Amino acid sequence: MKQEKKFLRQCASCREYKKKEELIRLTKDHKTGEVTINNDNSSFGRSIYVCKNEECLKNFIKKKRTEHILKAKLPVNIEEELYTVLKN
Ligand SMILES: [Zn+2]
Repeated sequence: MKQEKKFLRQCASCREYKKKEELIRLTKDHKTGEVTINNDNSSFGRSIYVCKNEECLKNFIKKKRTEHILKAKLPVNIEEELYTVLKN
């Protein structure tokens, strides 16, 4: 794997490839099945990414991307946390 895309992750909302720093990482824990924000790689499981911008996040939540891709509901507190990340 010597492609540049190795360092890029695809946003689950707009499907663009971006650097990790520009994205929020969400992981479905392999044990509990719970979806959490996982920017520090603290939990292990399947991950998806979404851009740190309002439009992407709104579509991401509205279209229930976590349910489609991870087969898990996005907890309300995580939804709120995502908007908090935006404000920072
Ligand atoms: Zn995006």
